[in-house]
Order: sequence, then C-alpha cells, then structure tokens
Amino acid sequence: MKNYKLLTPGPLTTTETVKKEMLFDHCTWDDDYKQITQEIRRELLNLAHVSEEEYTAVLMQGSGTFGVESVLTSVIGKEEKLLIAANGAYGKRMVSIAEHACIDYTLYEEDFDKVPCARKIAEILDGDGRITHVAMVHSETTSGILNDISSVAKVVKERGRTFIVDAMSSFGGVDIQVGELGIDFIVSSANKCIQGVPGFSFIICRRDKLMESKGKARSLSLDLYDQWETMEKDGKWRFTSPTHVVLAFRKALDELKEEGGTEKRNERYTQNHKILIENLAKLGIKPYVGADVQGPIITTFYYPENHHFSFQEMYEYIKERGYAIYPGKVTDADTFRIGNIGEIYPEDMVKVTAIISEFLKETN
Ligand SMILES: *Cc1c(COP(=O)(O)O)cnc(C)c1O
Repeated sequence: MKNYKLLTPGPLTTTETVKKEMLFDHCTWDDDYKQITQEIRRELLNLAHVSEEEYTAVLMQGSGTFGVESVLTSVIGKEEKLLIAANGAYGKRMVSIAEHACIDYTLYEEDFDKVPCARKIAEILDGDGRITHVAMVHSETTSGILNDISSVAKVVKERGRTFIVDAMSSFGGVDIQVGELGIDFIVSSANKCIQGVPGFSFIICRRDKLMESKGKARSLSLDLYDQWETMEKDGKWRFTSPTHVVLAFRKALDELKEEGGTEKRNERYTQNHKILIENLAKLGIKPYVGADVQGPIITTFYYPENHHFSFQEMYEYIKERGYAIYPGKVTDADTFRIGNIGEIYPEDMVKVTAIISEFLKETN
C-alpha cells in the first residue's frame, strides 16, 4: 500500500498543504527567501516562550542528530566537561557524539523505564566541580517516557552549569517554558511535532552562552556559532539551505498556529494517545513504562501474552490496511512502538487498534 499513514516518531505524516509547498524551487540569495528563514527563527522563539533579547534560534542542515552534535561539539570547550543523563538510545547517542569528538564527559545512566533523578544529578554535580555542562533528552523516543526537565533544570541552574536539552520529539507537541526553566540550548527538528518534512534541525540558544562558544567548535559544518553569525546578518544559510524543507516548515508553523499552538496540538496528541492505550489494554497489550512517566508522543508496548506472531507479520498486516508502526528499541524487553504524532487524529487510533484486534483474532 503506497498511501499508509506513519505512526512513527518521525518523519511523520504531514498535511497535503505542507507537502505542496515543496513544488516550488526557491532561489536562496534573494530577500524574500532570507525573510522566510528569519520568520521561522522568530516563530521558534515564540514557541519556546523566550525573547529575542535573551535567546536566538539557529537552523542547522541535517537530521535531528546533526543538531545535537552541533551543540555538543560547539559549546563545550577543551577544558570543560559534560554530564550526560541517559535513559534511552538518544541519551546514549550523546555519549557516542562525545566519544567521537573527544569531549570530556561523565555518564549517569538510568534504566529505560525510569526518569533521570534530579537529586542524583545534583549529587554528581556537587561531587565533580569540573562538570560545566549537563545534557539530557526530554521525550525519550526509545521508550516514550517523558523526562522531568523542570526538576533537573532547577538543580543545574542553581549550580551555575549550562543546560542542554534534546527536545526533538516533544518541542511543539509538549509546551516547554524554555526561558523560565533557564534552558541554555534546546534542540528539535523540522520533522517531529511541528509536522514539517525532514531536512534540518533547529537550536534555540541563550545568546550569552552562544557568544561564549565562539571558536570552540570541533567541526566546520556543524559550527553552531558560525552558522548563527551568518544567519543573524540577514537570514542567509552558511552552506546550501534545504529550500523545499524550509518552505514546508514555514507552512507547518502556520498550521500549528491555526490549530491553536502547542496547547491544542498537545490536546490532540494526548487524545490520540489515550485512545491507543485504552483500546490496546482491552486486547491485553500493556505499555512498557508506567502511566506516571509515560509521555503523549509515542508508546512502547509489550506483546500480548502467548502471542504467535513476529513483529514483521504484524507490521505487514497493519501496513496493508493503511498504517506503519515501529519496532521496539528498548534493550531489556521484547516490544513494539506506536507513535501518535503528525497528521493523526483520534479516528486513526480507533482504526489502527481495530486492525490490531483483527490481527490478534487471525493469529490466535
Ligand atoms: C528523532 C530523535 C532524534 C534525532 O534523530 P534523527 O534520526 O537524527 O533525526 C534525537 N533525539 C530524539 C529524542 C529523537 O526522538
């Protein structure tokens, strides 16, 4: 089936109108294109609830990981040290980035179904004065858990450290008071909750922290300060910009506004999620993380007891009927995942859970 909807953590199903924006090959050097980039940057600051005086937004070519790698390799100096709090594959990816770039780091690891604990982070910071930066994921897409960045922000800020958040799969879908929390760098990408297509990531940076990073970058193309410096002048991208993606993203931002902003989008995702959990519970399919820490973006499910099918069989069955689901990624349990972000509505959740119900009847 060519026309299935994606129940994945991104790229995700976008509207026809967002896709149509990409039918135009825009010139990059003229003023109206550069203005589009500037509008996007301003709108991202609005979504983060921060002012242009204190914060600035940088767009960076590549997928979400490029954005995270850009921050980690651009703002942590040779004499500085990073604490990574990880409870999933994306937290661990930060470790991999640090290893590759020879960034001095220490790892605080939690089980995939537990949120990193602010008190433990405070203890680690108090015990190691060399740590200058703390990085963690907000919505750990590996499991679907929603980490408590507020409590962590508090202990990090109280201790005067720089706070870096990977909010890839939550920004635009879960409201984040970036300024109030004092987050210094927050990263997301075009193809997650803002519902654009893949091609660039964006970083909302505290201006003073960004200024301090000048000259620290360990990579040329991912140099956050350099990218900002060029973009800040008049909206020009440093190297070739993903024009079609940028046009689609501007449209996606308009559509987010039309829907009623992050608040309304969060309501829709939460509603999707509720139907998904309730309907699958009736089939004996339970979530991997506890309800108290489960986020509204994506859910990891255990297979029903005594099942007689492979993920591939279930995937094919559901795909033929119009939806693409996702394999599990947690390491300690046999699971699968269903996302409910993107151009997805409660009726889709009703449909996909009915398809799963039929599938279980046929395989038992
Ligand atoms: C999607 C995602 C990323 C980035 O993944 P890419 O494949 O590089 O786009 C990073 N962190 C989290 C939490 C994500 O959900």
